[in-house]
Amino acid sequence: MHKKVEDQPESNIFVKSGSLTEDDYIRIIHDLEAHQVQLEMQIGKLSLQEENAVRVSERFKVLRDLSSEILDLHDLDGIYSYIAATLHKYLPDTIILVHSVDEETKTVRLEKIAGIGNKFLNQVFQVSGFNPTGKKFKLINTHDMYLRSGDFIEFQGNLAEFAASDVSPVIARTIEKLIGLHKIYTIGIKKEEHLLAAIHFFTFNNRVIYDRSFIEAFVKQAGIVIQKKMAENALKASEEKYRNIFENVQDVYYESAIDGTILDVSPSIKAFSKGLYTREELVGKSMYDLYANDGERESLLSALRENGEILDYEIFLKNKDGLVIPCLVSSKLVFDASGRPKKIVGSVHNITKRKNTEESLRESEERYRSLFTEMHEGFALHEIICDESGRPCDYRFLEVNPAFEKMTGLRADDIRGKRILEVLPSTESYWIDTYGSVALTGQFTEVENYSEALGKYFHVVAFSPMKNQFATVFSDITENRQVQEQLIMQSKFRQLLIEISSAFINLSLEDVDATIIQSLELMGKFVGADRAYIFDFDDKSGLCTNTHEWCEDGIEAQKDNLQNVPLSHEWIGTFRGAEVVYIDDVLALQAGETRSVLEPQGIKSLVAVPMMDKGFCIGFIGFDSVKQHHTYSVTEKQLLIVSAQLLVNIKLRIQSDEIIIAAKEKAEENDRLKSAFLANMSHEIRTPLNAIIGFAELVVDPYFEEEQHAEFAQMISESGNNLLSIISDIMDLSKIEAGQIDIQKRKVEVNQLMASLKKEFSHKASQKGIELRLSPSNPKDEILIESDETKIRQVLVNFIGNSIKFTENGFIELGISRTDTHVQFHVKDTGIGIPEAYHDKIFERFRQVETAHTRKYGGNGLGLAISKSLVELLGGTIWMESEVGKGSSFNFSIPLK
Ligand code: ADP
Repeated sequence: MHKKVEDQPESNIFVKSGSLTEDDYIRIIHDLEAHQVQLEMQIGKLSLQEENAVRVSERFKVLRDLSSEILDLHDLDGIYSYIAATLHKYLPDTIILVHSVDEETKTVRLEKIAGIGNKFLNQVFQVSGFNPTGKKFKLINTHDMYLRSGDFIEFQGNLAEFAASDVSPVIARTIEKLIGLHKIYTIGIKKEEHLLAAIHFFTFNNRVIYDRSFIEAFVKQAGIVIQKKMAENALKASEEKYRNIFENVQDVYYESAIDGTILDVSPSIKAFSKGLYTREELVGKSMYDLYANDGERESLLSALRENGEILDYEIFLKNKDGLVIPCLVSSKLVFDASGRPKKIVGSVHNITKRKNTEESLRESEERYRSLFTEMHEGFALHEIICDESGRPCDYRFLEVNPAFEKMTGLRADDIRGKRILEVLPSTESYWIDTYGSVALTGQFTEVENYSEALGKYFHVVAFSPMKNQFATVFSDITENRQVQEQLIMQSKFRQLLIEISSAFINLSLEDVDATIIQSLELMGKFVGADRAYIFDFDDKSGLCTNTHEWCEDGIEAQKDNLQNVPLSHEWIGTFRGAEVVYIDDVLALQAGETRSVLEPQGIKSLVAVPMMDKGFCIGFIGFDSVKQHHTYSVTEKQLLIVSAQLLVNIKLRIQSDEIIIAAKEKAEENDRLKSAFLANMSHEIRTPLNAIIGFAELVVDPYFEEEQHAEFAQMISESGNNLLSIISDIMDLSKIEAGQIDIQKRKVEVNQLMASLKKEFSHKASQKGIELRLSPSNPKDEILIESDETKIRQVLVNFIGNSIKFTENGFIELGISRTDTHVQFHVKDTGIGIPEAYHDKIFERFRQVETAHTRKYGGNGLGLAISKSLVELLGGTIWMESEVGKGSSFNFSIPLK
């Protein structure tokens, strides 16, 4: 707005004329200057007035536009921003804080701040973390009082006092300093008696606010607008609320005639029928068309007639598309003036959702129930019981499923409501602690453990469905565990067998015993026995001998006490049937043979497995438990059977090795003897042959006398006989070996045979000065046997020949004696005797005491071997007794027949 500039008065310089003095000039200049100043002052005044006028007009414009501008804003937040920004526009060097007021809680909330372009202040907010926007402060009484006056008030105090307890004095002072706080003003925005908002003004740069009336007018105007906005908001909210309610109401109100004609129905039928029916469409139609089931309306009517009204009566309506809608109907009869039922009014409520929920609830309950009863896992719900200190000390069964009953053998009816320590007093505290922590902390747990009380392994999952309760789902894993343990055991055992078997590979015979004992130790330790042993068993005598034994430290060895001891008949019977003797508890045995043997050895449990060879028991391997009782599992027993068989194989192999070695030694010995024999033979045969050839030459040598020739012929004859005897011995032996000797049994009178032999050898004996005598010297009874006389004679001739050969003096006795079944012959001499080392072997072929080098007596070492074979062919036995230097006795006995 322009203000017209006023006309100026005429100046002196324009009225004076003529020449001017210096003074005039000075005065004129002075006047001009004064005039200029005056003019400038006037101009300044004018522009000030103009400025003021502009300012005032602007402010009034603000006040005029305030309502319309604010009301265009959507929300209160916008209004607060607008107030703060507008005030700040007119109040430079001022910080403006706009607060909303909640009269109910007596709090103010800082909504907006304007004028904090001050970067220091921003920094303070950042550093102190003090950003008050959005914060709530208490509305202190003094503030409340002057705010309610609606006047623009200058606060007489500093910021700390103004902010009271809401801002710490340190922060207040810092802010004061930073912004150079000059004055604090405040004003309340109210509508009637309600305080709606409060505005604080902090000025700096020594700014003083003079626009009090403008601010007051502005605030009043703003109050109206805020209040209007608030009312508008409240209306909007309640409108919304009711719209929601309205939209959500799906119940249908209706009126129908008794005959079913629909008189009226609320518009909510549209929502009810999912938009398929409208009110207009239904009015005049019959209710009967809407019922899903025949007869249902009749039932409803009779209920209505009975009570006058019904509440939540369940019916099924059908929608236009045929979909059945379960509903609850509440209705009553309306009567006419004469008291007759005129119409029915009521409401219908759709309960499809509830029905569905109910149905799915029922289904899920059913599903869970059948899961509960059908599941293979045991399920039990419990309540934990704690002692006074709150520690779990027991628990109570609330519910268990059939699988639980099956697994534990406990019946639900017997244990429901009972405590576990009541039902199974030996329950390990471990379980109570574990479950206690599940029930108290709600922490899920999963364990695998053995229950001594039930003798089973369980895999248990425990969780807490609610505080102080826990549920367990568990499966019996005993079988799994056993299978697992057996598998481990079997694999360990296979390892053991491999270890044992390989120990015997290429084992020298000297190491066999030690290795067997080591194997016993391995097996014993494996099955947890304290003693493991092997017995040889002789089925004929029934005797057994402990051959190998391993004992755990501190366990007494029994081997020396168990040599050639009789095995109990019971055990023999079991072993013959290739069965295992197993005694789980020795002390549980009845008094008897077995117990009396085992108990003194301190044996508590025992298992003994027979070692079978070609169907015969040749021994057994046993395991004793002395320290503690041991129950052998089927697998353990089977494994011991395998190991026993392994040992049998080893034993048989060793035996056959021994036989082979013995045979080899024997063959080597035979070989050695045969070499010696051949050496002898060449000597024995050559000697007479040389003699024969030599003397044959001499016999025809004319150099010798006739007498000498006769001697030579004698020598030839003797050597020839000698050779013949050697050759016939060899022939005999060959025949015997080839089995070509025939036995021809005839009656033999033994005394006669002996007498004839005495007669035959008397001369030869007496030649050596030896007495040859018979025993008995004069036999009375004749002894008649049935045998091969030639063979008997051959044996006796050999004996007598040897006796004469090896006896220098003394006597030789030919003796006989008889028993009921046998006749016994002996040829006893007082000769050189035979060293004891030869006694066992003298009947073997080529066996002689003297060696080739010390030959004195001659002979070929075949006589006794032939004799032995002949006696055995006759069904008899041969033996000798002899002492070096004293003499020998060679004997044989043959059956009478
Ligand atoms: P030979 O007598 O031909 O050597 P034998 O088989 O008859 O063969 O005897 C074997 C060995 O037995 C003899 O070499 C001898 O060492 C010993 N012997 C046999 N009979 C007697 C005996 N009566 N007295 C001492 N030694 C004997």
